[in-house]
Amino acid sequence: MNQDERRALLTQAFVQRFGQPPSIWVRAPGRVDLMGSHTDYNLGYVLTLPVDRDTWMAARPRTDRIACVQSLNAAGSSCFDVEAEVIARDEAVPWANYVRGVAAVFRTEGRPFTGFDSLAHSTIPLSSGLSSSAALEAATAMLLQALGGWQDEPVRLALLCQRAENRFVGVNCGILDQYTSILGQAGCALLLDCRDLTSRPVTVPADIQVVICDTRAKRELTGSEYGDRRAQCEEGARLLARFYPGVIALRDVSLAQFEAHQADLPEPVARRCRFIIEENERVLRLAEALPRGDRAAIRAVTAASYAGARDLYEIASPEMEAMLEAMQAGTGVIGARQAGAGFGGCMVAFVEAGATQAFEADVRRSYAAATGIEPEIYPVRAAAGAGECA
Ligand code: ADP
Ligand code: MG
Repeated sequence: MNQDERRALLTQAFVQRFGQPPSIWVRAPGRVDLMGSHTDYNLGYVLTLPVDRDTWMAARPRTDRIACVQSLNAAGSSCFDVEAEVIARDEAVPWANYVRGVAAVFRTEGRPFTGFDSLAHSTIPLSSGLSSSAALEAATAMLLQALGGWQDEPVRLALLCQRAENRFVGVNCGILDQYTSILGQAGCALLLDCRDLTSRPVTVPADIQVVICDTRAKRELTGSEYGDRRAQCEEGARLLARFYPGVIALRDVSLAQFEAHQADLPEPVARRCRFIIEENERVLRLAEALPRGDRAAIRAVTAASYAGARDLYEIASPEMEAMLEAMQAGTGVIGARQAGAGFGGCMVAFVEAGATQAFEADVRRSYAAATGIEPEIYPVRAAAGAGECA
C-alpha cells in the first residue's frame, strides 16, 4: 500500500465512522534497537533506529468537548470529555488507554486541546517489540499539539508520552521508544544516552541493510518478567553503590568494577548486571563499527549480545533460538541479534544490501521448517520522527 492508497483507505473509513472527512493527519514511526537491550531503564546507551513502519492518525476537531478514538488495527470506540476533572481509563477498550493517557497527561500539564474524532492505522506489528505503543502515543501528542495550537520541545513530549505509558497504561517502560519515535531522523540511527536524553546521529552504510525478522511468537509480557528484570538491576545498582559511592544505576559501573565485586551479588542479580554492563559497552562499540562497515566487529558484537540475552538476562525463547540460527545461516548475513524486550517478537539482522532478497528467502524457509511458524521478514530504513503526514 503506497501513501495515497493509505490516505484513501483512512479517509473512506473515517467518513464511514464519523460522517465527515478528516482534516488533520499526523504520524509517528516504530523503532528497532540495533544494540542495547534493557539498557534504557539502567540509564545507559542504546543504538536505536526509527523505522519506515509507522502509525498514522487521521482526525477532525469537534465543536463539543468530546474526543472519540477508533483504530483500524483494533476493535472498539472510546469517547471521553477532554475537559473532565479527570480523564479516566477505559477498561472496555484497553488500547484506547494509550491515547487517553497522553490526553490526560497533557491536560494535567496545562496543554489544552479541543474535542476530536480520530482514527489510527499502523503498519507496525502490534506487540512485537517495534514499539507500536510509543508510536500511538507520539502520534497522539502530535494530534493534541495540532488541535491545541501549541508546541512543546521534543524531549519534553517524549517524557510526557513515557509518563502516560508508565502511570496511565501501567507499563513501566524506559524512555527509548518514545524518544526514538519523536526525535528520530530520516537516514540515520541515533546513539541515545538515556541519562541525559541527548543523542547523536550514526550512519548506517548504504551497503548494509537492516532486516527485521519477526518470529511471530507473541510475547507474554503480561507476567512479571520485565518488572523482575528491572528490580534485579536496581538491586544490583544498590548493592554495588556500597562499594562505589555515587553509583545510581548500572550505567555508572564499569566491567572491571563489577568483576571486583561480582561475588558480593546474589544470583540471578549478578548475571543480570553483567549483561547490562557488557551490553552498554557493546552499544558504543557498534556505534563506532557500523559507520565504518566493520563486518567482523558487527558480527562479534551482535553474537555476544544474543548470547548474553539468552544466558545472562534470560529473555530468549525457543522461537528466538530458531530464528537466530536461521538468520546466522542466511545468505549475506553480517550479524544478528534480538530486538525489543525479548521473549519472542522481532529480531534484527545486518545483511549485505545486495543479498537482502536471498537472505529473506533463506530465513523464511529455515525458520518455518524449524518451528512451523511463517515469519515476517522485511528490510527497514531510517524514517523521520513524529510529525504531520507529508
Ligand atoms: P509494542 O509497543 O512493542 O508494539 P506493547 O505491548 O508495548 O508492544 O504495545 C502494544 C499495544 O499498543 C497493543 O496491544 C495496543 O493496545 C496498542 N496499540 C498500538 N498501536 C495501536 C493501533 N494502531 N491501534 C490500536 N492499538 C494500538
Ligand atoms: Mg511498547
